[in-house]
Amino acid sequence: MTQYQMYINGKWISAVHTMPVLNPASEDTIASVPVASAQDVQRALESAARAQRSWGRLTGVERGAFLRRWYELVTKNRDRLAQIISLEEGKPLSEAAGEITFGTAGYLSYYAELGRSIAGDILAPDRPGEQIWIVPQPVGVVIGIIPWNYPSALAARKIAPALIAGNAIVLKPHEDTPLSALELAKLAEEAGLPAGVFNVITGPGETVGEALVKSPVPSLITFTGSVETGKRIMRNAADTVKKVSLEMGGKAPFIVMEDSDLDAAVETALFSRFVNCGQVCICNERTYVHKKIADQFVSKFLDGVRRLKLGNPLDPGVNLGPKVNRDELLKVERYVEEARQSGAQILTGGRRLTEGPFSHGYWYEPTVIAGVQQSMKIMQEEIFGPVVPIMEFSDFDEALTLANDSRYGLAAFLFTNDMNRVLRAVRDMECGELYINRGPGESVHGFHTGWKQSGLGGDDGKYGLEQYLQRKTVYVKYQG
Ligand code: NAD
Repeated sequence: MTQYQMYINGKWISAVHTMPVLNPASEDTIASVPVASAQDVQRALESAARAQRSWGRLTGVERGAFLRRWYELVTKNRDRLAQIISLEEGKPLSEAAGEITFGTAGYLSYYAELGRSIAGDILAPDRPGEQIWIVPQPVGVVIGIIPWNYPSALAARKIAPALIAGNAIVLKPHEDTPLSALELAKLAEEAGLPAGVFNVITGPGETVGEALVKSPVPSLITFTGSVETGKRIMRNAADTVKKVSLEMGGKAPFIVMEDSDLDAAVETALFSRFVNCGQVCICNERTYVHKKIADQFVSKFLDGVRRLKLGNPLDPGVNLGPKVNRDELLKVERYVEEARQSGAQILTGGRRLTEGPFSHGYWYEPTVIAGVQQSMKIMQEEIFGPVVPIMEFSDFDEALTLANDSRYGLAAFLFTNDMNRVLRAVRDMECGELYINRGPGESVHGFHTGWKQSGLGGDDGKYGLEQYLQRKTVYVKYQG
C-alpha cells in the first residue's frame, strides 16, 4: 500500500490524519492520502497567490512551454497513469488509456498552444485624443474541484486552461480517486513547473472543499460534480462574490427516429449507456424509440447488452467494471427497485452481483427497463450507472417534448436522416451539447456547457478559456 502526500508549494506534505483509497473491484485498500487540515488549505492558497504573481507575468508562450513538457511526460507515462485510474475508479484499462490520451494529454497539448490566442480589444473612442482598450488578465487563484468519474482528464481540463491564462490553481480531487491528480503533480514537478503554481490537496468535500470555496483568496471556483454540491458551492461562493463555473449532472435523452440507421443507433446507444459503467455526465440516461421500430430496436439492444463482459478492469476484453463505491451502487439499486415497484418491467439485469469473482467490489448487472412513464424517478433523476430505461413515442414533436421535460440540460442524442428534424433539434433541444447520429465524446476545442440545472459557464475551447480570465477596460488620454 502506497502512502501518498499532498503537493503544496512544490513540496510533498503529510498530514496527521489520512484516508484510505479503495479499489472498487475488490474493496482492497490500495493507498492512503492525507486529510488536509485548515492550515494546509491556507498554506496552499497563500502559496498559489504568491506564485501567481510571477507566473502571470510570463508570456503565454513561456507558460505553454511548461504545459508542453508536462504533456510529454504524461504521454510517456500513459500506461502507468491508466493503470492507476483503473485501480482507483474501476474503468476498463483500455478506457483509462483513452482518458489519458484524449483527455489529460489532449488538454495539456491543446492549451499549451493557446498562449498567443489570448487577446483583447481596441475600441473606437467617443472622445478625441483617447484610446479605449479591453485587456484580458488572469483571475488570480483558481480552485478546481472535481468528481471521480474521469479523475485524470477532468483534472487536466481545469489545470491547463487555468495555467495558460496566467492563474495559479489549487486542485481538490474527489476523496475516492485522489491518486490520479497526485500522480499528475509528480509529473508537474518533473516538468519544472514553478512551486505554488499548481497544488493538490486531498480530503473530504464537506471540510476541505468547503474551506477552499469560502476562503477570500481565490477568485474562481471551477467545479465538476453533482447538482446538489454545485448549488452549495454557488451559495458559499456568494459571500465573497467569486466567479463560479459549474459542470454538473445530466439526464441525456437518446432519441431514435424510424428513419435512422438502426444498427448504428443500437451500437451507439449501447456504448453511450455502458461506457465507464454508465458513469458519464453525458451518458444515454433515457432512450426514446419511435414506435415503428421499437420492437426491433429493443431486441437488438438486448442482444448487445448480453454480449457485454463484466469483470476486473485490468483484464483485457472487459467492457464493464464495478460502480465506484458502495453508496453509488446502492443508489442505482434503489432507482431500479423504485421503477420495478412503480410497474416498470426489467427486460434484463436488475440486480447486484455478489457471487464468485464479484463477491467483493461494487458490481451491478447491465440493466434494461421498459414499461416506464415519463414521471417516474428513473426518467427524471440521473442514474449514473449501467441501467437504461427505454420508452416509445409516436412522432418527433412528442420526442422533443419528452426530451426537454427535465431539470437537466447537459447533452442529448438524436438519430435520424431527416434534415428538417436535425435542424429543429438544433433549434429546440434544451441542452448544451447535441450529438446527431454519433455517440458521446467532446473535442478539446468545443464548448462543454450545461443548460438549466446542469451548469453555468463551461469548459474547453476558447469559451472555456474565457472563464479563467477577467477583463479590464483602460481609457487612455493623449495630447497633440
Ligand atoms: P460530488 O458533487 O459528490 O463531488 C464532486 C466534488 O465536490 C468532490 O471533489 C467532492 O469532494 C467535492 N465536494 C463535495 N461537497 C463539497 C462542498 N460542500 N464544498 C466543496 N466541494 C465539495 O459529485 P461526484 O459524485 O463526485 O460526481 C458525480 C457527478 O458529477 C454526477 O452528477 C455527474 O453527472 C457529474 N459530472 C458532471 C460532468 C460535467 O462535465 N458536467 C462531468 C463529470 C461528472
